[in-house]
Formats: sequence, structure tokens, C-alpha cells
Amino acid sequence: MYQNVINFIKGLYENPEFVPLSVPKFIGNEKKYLEECIDSTFVSSVGPFVDRFEADMAAYTGARRAVVCVSGTNALHMAMLLCGVERGDEVLTQALTFIATCNAISYLGAHPVFIDVDKTTMGLSPDAVKSWLSRNGEIKDGHCYDKQTGRRVKACVPMHTFGHPVRIEELAEICAEWHIELVEDAAESIGSKYKGRHTGLFGKVGALSFNGNKTITTGGGGMLLFMDENLGALAKHLTTQAKVPHRWEFKHDHIGYNYRMPNINAALGCAQLEHLDQYIADKRKTASEYAAFFKNEKDISFFVEPENCFSNYWLNAVILPDHDRQLAFLQETNDNGVMTRPIWELMNRLPMFEHCQHDSLENTIWFADRVVNIPSSVRLNDENYGH
Ligand SMILES: *Cc1c(COP(=O)(O)O)cnc(C)c1O
Repeated sequence: MYQNVINFIKGLYENPEFVPLSVPKFIGNEKKYLEECIDSTFVSSVGPFVDRFEADMAAYTGARRAVVCVSGTNALHMAMLLCGVERGDEVLTQALTFIATCNAISYLGAHPVFIDVDKTTMGLSPDAVKSWLSRNGEIKDGHCYDKQTGRRVKACVPMHTFGHPVRIEELAEICAEWHIELVEDAAESIGSKYKGRHTGLFGKVGALSFNGNKTITTGGGGMLLFMDENLGALAKHLTTQAKVPHRWEFKHDHIGYNYRMPNINAALGCAQLEHLDQYIADKRKTASEYAAFFKNEKDISFFVEPENCFSNYWLNAVILPDHDRQLAFLQETNDNGVMTRPIWELMNRLPMFEHCQHDSLENTIWFADRVVNIPSSVRLNDENYGH
């Protein structure tokens, strides 16, 4: 039934046997920088690549400060900690996300509240957030409270699904109006922009991920983005055990975290970042070829970047007409050497979060029943890149 799709994807990736969903690509200075780490013995949490990766990422994104972490998950944990999320607070987010978003909320003892996504972005809907707040929110002493539960609504964490930016300006306005801190889960959206501005810079903090399946990788890693330099400096302090700088004394002035990315991972990051724009151009080319192909498939539509946005097209997504055909598509492609997968199980359907509040989740469920991710790796190789 989907043989033409399978053939097209195998042709696109020039691989008749097996096409993976998303694999990393190392075509630049990766080996050279790793060798420098080993030769210099600076492989751990101190070393020149850590500072360089932070400076390069700040320059790339336009953040005033960028702070490395050992994973995107703990970058999110740190982001919410810095926003003052505390035990018992509520955090507005999506049910359509990767588990890391909700795990980070849980580390702080806070409760996720699941709000619907937009049909155009697959990310948190400003209309749905507004409507939930107008029904449930009230402002007392400069804080937003949930009238039903009495809990404080401290933060809102939209996620730029598959690299497609959410309607972030509208979310920022709503959060400001309701005294809610905005944290962007930009784990999937490195290089993606909303009206020309890099994702992760619209709220108080943005969190990126460099896990192996992301657009660029450090093996494992994450990064915090700040427009507020003082908050960035505090993040640096807290992610490095809150040690008071001194040549020999070990004094600490806060409960700190060992969240600092080792130099070898940062070295990989520096090398990867040198090719990020090339990777994104390549991924966008793949996306446009998919878009052209699926125009002629009457039952399958290809998800494209929202208006006014520049997407990195981290993971390409198609939409099937219904759940049965979603399953049939998954079965046939995976049986025939083309790796595909459905969207994550919705957070409100997992045992840890099934008791959490949510709105109708109408669009969320619509997507969960229809979306399939298709192969999205960078296609560029050594031969067509003269390094
Ligand atoms: C990848 C990802 C993260 C972070 O994951 P790590 O593996 O900890 O780097 C967070 N949120 C989303 C939505 C992600 O896709």
C-alpha cells in the first residue's frame, strides 16, 4: 500500500537496505578536537572547549549568555529552578512532548498541567493557554493561582515540536499578563527561528539538547540560553557545584549541581556547530523534497513549518488520515527497511502523569492518532563536502 513511499525514501537516502530515522554526522573537526582534549589531558569538566562552546553558541543564537549542561533534561531542571518553580507549584505544558519536559517539572515537585497544541505548529497553543487561564487562573499578590486547586501557577513550558517554532510571542504576552515565567523547551529547535529570532530567547530561559539523535550532538549534553546575563552567571554557578572561586579553598555557598558538560563533549559540540548551518540547509532541502513528493499522495500530508518561522526540520512528520492508517503505515515501512515511528505516547496517558489536569487536548489527540516521523538524517557526506 505504501510501497511508493518506501521506494522514494530509500532513493532519497540512496540506501536500498535500511534507512534509520535520525543519525549523527561527523564530517569536520570532531576527531581533531577530541585528540586535542586527550593530548592536553583536559577531558573533564574544565577545559577550553567548554568556554568556547558556550561563547560560540551565544554568538550563534544571539543569547547574551549560554551555559552548558550534561543533558537537555537537566538543562530544563535548572531552567525551572532558576525561575523559582517550587514543590507544589503548577507548570503549564504540552501532553505532546518527550518525557524529559515532564520529568524536569517533577524533579522540582511541581505538577504539570497539560494544555492543547495548535494544528499549525504541533506546539503549545496560546489560545488554549488563554482559555485555561481565564477559566482557572486568578492573580493574588502578584502571583497566578489555580482557583480549583489553590496551587500557584509558576511557569509555562512550551516545546518547539520537531523543530517547528510555537506561537511564542503570543505565549510570552500571556505569561507576562498572568505573572507566569516562560521557559522554552527548545531541545529540538536549535537553529529554528520565530520572526528571525532564535527559539529559546523569548522567555526567561531556553533549554537545548545535544543528545545523539538531535540536529547536532555532543554525545549527550544540553545548554541554557539567557538574555539576562546575571541569571546566566547564576546558572553557571549552580551547575558547577556552587563553588566560590578560589585557588585552593573548597567553599560552596548554595546547594549546587554537577551539571557541567565535560570538555570532550564540548569539543565535539564546537566541531558540530561549525557545520550546523550546512546541516540545516541539507535538512530543509530534504524536507522540500518530501513536501513535493507527498503533494501527490492523496492520503498523506507532509507537515510544513508555520508562517513567519524558519524551522530546522529536525524530524520530518507526515499526517495519515486516521489511526488505522497510521498503524498500517508504521507497520509497512518498518517491515520494509524504512524506520518510522509515531509521536511519543501522550504524557497524560503515562502512569506518572495520568492524574494530572488537562484541557480537552483535542488537537493533541488528533495528532497522536495520525503523526508518523519519517527518516530525517543529514544526507550530506564527505564526498560532497570538501573539508
Ligand atoms: C531531547 C529532548 C529533551 C532533552 O533530552 P536529553 O536527552 O536529556 O538531552 C528535552 N525535551 C525534548 C522535547 C526533547 O526532544
